[in-house]
Amino acid sequence: MRISNLKLHSIAIADPPLRSSYGLHAPWALRTIVELETDDGVAGISETYGGEGPRAALEAVRKFVIGMDPFQLAGLYRKICEETGTAADIPGGHTQTWLVPGENPLDQDNRTFAALEMACLDIIGKAVNRPVCDVIGGRARDRVPFSAYLFYKHAGGGGDGHYEDEYEEALDPGSVVRECRQMIDSYGFREIKLKGGVLEPASEVETIRQLRAEFGRAVPLRIDPNCAWSVETSVQVGESLRDELSDGGYLEDPCPSLEGMGAVRKRLLGQGIDTPLASNVAVTQFRDVPRARELDAVQIVLSDPHYWGGLRKVQSLSHLCDVLGMGTSMHSNSHLGVSLMAMAHVAAACPNLTYACDTHYPWQTGKDEVVAGGRIRFEKGAVVIPSKAGLGVELDYDQLARGRERYEKIPYRRRDDEAEMQKRVDPNWKRVVPRW
Ligand SMILES: [Mg+2]
Repeated sequence: MRISNLKLHSIAIADPPLRSSYGLHAPWALRTIVELETDDGVAGISETYGGEGPRAALEAVRKFVIGMDPFQLAGLYRKICEETGTAADIPGGHTQTWLVPGENPLDQDNRTFAALEMACLDIIGKAVNRPVCDVIGGRARDRVPFSAYLFYKHAGGGGDGHYEDEYEEALDPGSVVRECRQMIDSYGFREIKLKGGVLEPASEVETIRQLRAEFGRAVPLRIDPNCAWSVETSVQVGESLRDELSDGGYLEDPCPSLEGMGAVRKRLLGQGIDTPLASNVAVTQFRDVPRARELDAVQIVLSDPHYWGGLRKVQSLSHLCDVLGMGTSMHSNSHLGVSLMAMAHVAAACPNLTYACDTHYPWQTGKDEVVAGGRIRFEKGAVVIPSKAGLGVELDYDQLARGRERYEKIPYRRRDDEAEMQKRVDPNWKRVVPRW
């Protein structure tokens, strides 16, 4: 079996005005849908970061993909790495605190490879008539739990104004509790994560407290301000929320750098507060894990098949973390059903998955879904692994064409949350890390 065609579809999907320390989500999120065809008629699909950069990176390795055997993934990875040189030498490679996910030059090889590996695993699954999670070692679980991923948001449903504002404005504690109730009623999530770094820390502490009061101790709570706080503020929030973030909760990337997080951990432990720290900013690659462990800066690593180098590397990460006594969960970006299924398959195949995975899926809409048959359904907050071969989803080509048309109409080709914040909320807004 040889790969005979690589098709890249740049699409745009409506995205509501969600806030974070990076700024504001633009009305459209960009994604790339990848299709691989083989000479014996089996095709595979994947979903990855959108816009010009990721597409160009995939185009640059087209020469290695056409003619390759989809089972020979290690050889493809080697060629991709050789093509781009040593990642450590890439300028700007150590400024990841400032970069939105998907733009760190240090992960570029891994992002490019991951998009191709995901489609090859879909092909392999179809060739042997087994789901992807069985191809990569079988399942530790048949149902993959996801968390209610809450955001402070402005009014609006994103897109061109023809999208319903399903969750309405939520810029204070009470409206986030309402947003959460609505999301849990719709999806059945049993764990909650709040994207913070938006309001004054005291208001975010109050939001977490109100969520605890509303949903009780049985629902674990997390907060992720994306490095918006100083060490001092992180410690204060850790103290204030010592009770609310216990029982399966965590504090994610409260401040910049592993050194900063190590200092926060030390000071919290000194007060008998054992709230674990999680990261998808200070730890984005395998090379970060030993230092994170050495400094005791991170106790939970957030994986992501899209930038950690594919599904099998996420399994390696899960195993490494297990060996080092660290937990894992999964990071997410705005995405559609192909990504959701890839995340679910690999999470099913990771024995060490200690927390429900993140997903932005509730923020997207069926209007833009490219998966045939419409949106993936959640059962009590979990995605159930289907018995179908491969990723278990096919493309709806009419929907894909609509996504391409939207992409052609919009002016931007990369994500820029800071520019969007300046355009729509405050012309003088700058990303400052730490802000408080
Ligand atoms: Mg995060």
